[in-house]
Amino acid sequence: MVRIEGLRKSFGDNVVLRDIDFEVMAGQVVTIIGASGSGKSTLLRCINLLETPDAGHVWFHGSDLAAERVDVNRLREKIGMVFQGFNLFNNMNVLDNCTLAPVTLKKAGKAEAERVALGHLETVGLADFARADVNTLSGGQKQRVAIARALCMNPDLMLFDEPTSALDPEIVGEVLEVMRDLAARGMTMVVVTHEMAFAKEVSDQVVFMDQGVIAEQGTPAKLFSAPEQPRTREFLSRYL
Ligand code: ATP
Ligand code: MG
Repeated sequence: MVRIEGLRKSFGDNVVLRDIDFEVMAGQVVTIIGASGSGKSTLLRCINLLETPDAGHVWFHGSDLAAERVDVNRLREKIGMVFQGFNLFNNMNVLDNCTLAPVTLKKAGKAEAERVALGHLETVGLADFARADVNTLSGGQKQRVAIARALCMNPDLMLFDEPTSALDPEIVGEVLEVMRDLAARGMTMVVVTHEMAFAKEVSDQVVFMDQGVIAEQGTPAKLFSAPEQPRTREFLSRYL
């Protein structure tokens, strides 16, 4: 579904991604792990062109998003993204957060968008909060709204950038549970996370990034139990 070839990205003199090749098959969950500053977020943001690559290709459904003639906005509608900081509209209620993009982008009329949104809010366990102000929600609830909102665009691919890093430890589980459900229902997902137990459990592939390269990649069984690279072992040892 997504294939990245020869991706490079620098910010000024800071080379952040060096020649990344990476593939996500439909229905797979790929998690990206690695130290702070290794380029995880930048890689994720290149997949939906929140960052413009300096070189390389980002194939999504057979179109090269890095090519100039492609209608990026249309393709991007098929890619949902969930951030560490929720990025919800705090001055709107939960339901309006969920229907804003579908209605604005004329994917659906208001009534239809609300029907769909209520279904997704049900999925994330927040149907009773549809009319609640976002301000009144806990961090875990906000993140579940953010996931429901992304689902309202009917994406083929979901990107998650440390979705639980801003949450209190006792709330992390409820968000991971929703993500686990999503994975079990066959959603294609790329997840940047420091939750190693979650990565181990749900991933088809784990990608370890170090200083702008994919230092090692493999199944969770392989990468967590028998990492080949010394730097992978060193990184993982911090989580024991
Ligand atoms: P973390 O675990 O802390 O989120 P990360 O692996 O996601 O780290 P990135 O956010 O991709 O790392 O950042 C990689 C490097 O790129 C860092 O040195 C960062 O300072 C730099 N960087 C990222 N975004 C920008 C930007 N918009 N402008 C300039 N430098 C940036
Ligand atoms: Mg990051």
